[in-house]
Amino acid sequence: MLCDVRRFELRLAIQALLLSHFLSYKPRFHILQKILLTHSKVAEMKIHEYQAKEILRKFNVATPNGKVAFSVDEAVNAATEIGGDGWVVKAQIHAGGRGKGGGVKLAKSIDEVRRLASQMLGMTLVTHQTDPEGKAVKRLLIEQGINIAKELYAGIVLDRSASKNVFMVSTEGGVEIEKVAAESPEKILKVTVDPGLGLMPFQAKELAFGLGLEGDAFKNGVKFLTALYKAYEASDASLAEINPLVLTKEGAVMALDAKMNFDDNSLYRHPEIVELRDLDEESPLEVEASKSHLNYIKLDGNVGCMVNGAGLAMATMDIIKLTGGEPANFLDVGGGANVDTVSSGFKIILSDPNVRAILINIFGGIVRCDRVAQGVIEAAKRVSVNLPVVVRLEGTNAKEGAELLRQSGLDFAVANGLKDAAEKVVAALRN
Ligand code: GDP
Ligand code: MN
Repeated sequence: MLCDVRRFELRLAIQALLLSHFLSYKPRFHILQKILLTHSKVAEMKIHEYQAKEILRKFNVATPNGKVAFSVDEAVNAATEIGGDGWVVKAQIHAGGRGKGGGVKLAKSIDEVRRLASQMLGMTLVTHQTDPEGKAVKRLLIEQGINIAKELYAGIVLDRSASKNVFMVSTEGGVEIEKVAAESPEKILKVTVDPGLGLMPFQAKELAFGLGLEGDAFKNGVKFLTALYKAYEASDASLAEINPLVLTKEGAVMALDAKMNFDDNSLYRHPEIVELRDLDEESPLEVEASKSHLNYIKLDGNVGCMVNGAGLAMATMDIIKLTGGEPANFLDVGGGANVDTVSSGFKIILSDPNVRAILINIFGGIVRCDRVAQGVIEAAKRVSVNLPVVVRLEGTNAKEGAELLRQSGLDFAVANGLKDAAEKVVAALRN
């Protein structure tokens, strides 16, 4: 849930970033970028292209005829059922740029569908939107081949600063829209939609006109854009992007590609969308972290950090770095840190083999330090921790918390202040 609290934390993180700019900490920008990504991940649920197209079809948005396939046989059966004399085999991963990476291929015969499907299933697809390690392909979309006359673009996204949805179209489809936006922004036509009124007929016409559509294609375009907006609105999407939207040689307008993200604040009223979640697309550590509402980003260092609050987490990473250490992760356990969140935090940090010491830095505000200390002690009993752990507690009941740690009989170093904590944990690395 990217609720306002999360956004506030994000602002704190950015502040911490700016405040500490005098430290020569190169990965900082990278971390901020990752935090932004993680936050947007928390806020949105992604689905596959074939799933987005199934939703669009329900709202009468024109799409090519297609079927999902989990095996080569299923791919062959799908192509046979679809019929015709040309098919497209498309890798289904939660990332775009598949065309360039070899994840979208045309087939002229059923044998070719079979060959392409067996090549593509199990392959690791690397695109500009995946990690450098790429993504394993486990599902394919088999579609009828389309005679493309022109590749266009259509996208709807929520503009939070305007509190309105923005409908964007461009005649420059099939390429990265970010590139068009950067190099020739005049080629993107934007229409803001009043949430009370919805997409007005004159706006749909303005957009279709902006796409250069004429005659029947214009009528089809208006119908398409109107239906697309309905699908976006009714499913509480935060993004619907059709790139390319194609004009066919027969004058039809259809979604050749489809990407839909959903606002996770509204998922409670869309169980049918929640069912579309594909855990294979999420890293196991992230899934584990999100189950416990932890905000975790893996980094390359060896000091594991467990902190409450994104801003404090950034400051903690800075001071570790300043003291001569390297943070192994960003981990924000959030405001309601308890035994369960702390133990899953421990588990996640310990599953990184690079970690050689752990720093727990908690500011007791709403959550009391003695409660956190109890959580840390309980968690350390549950998950066996054989690494040096430095704990710094500040704020409400900090003294009581420190006392509990000292009496626990467990091997914690209790630090006095942020600087002392960083020095102790970096010293522990050297032992
Ligand atoms: P992306 O690269 O992940 O965005 O995947 P897309 O679904 O956008 O496909 C990439 C490109 O493949 C499109 O821009 C088209 O040029 C091409 N393509 C996809 N489907 C078809 C099709 O049915 N017929 C033809 N001729 N080209 C297609
Ligand atoms: Mn695309």
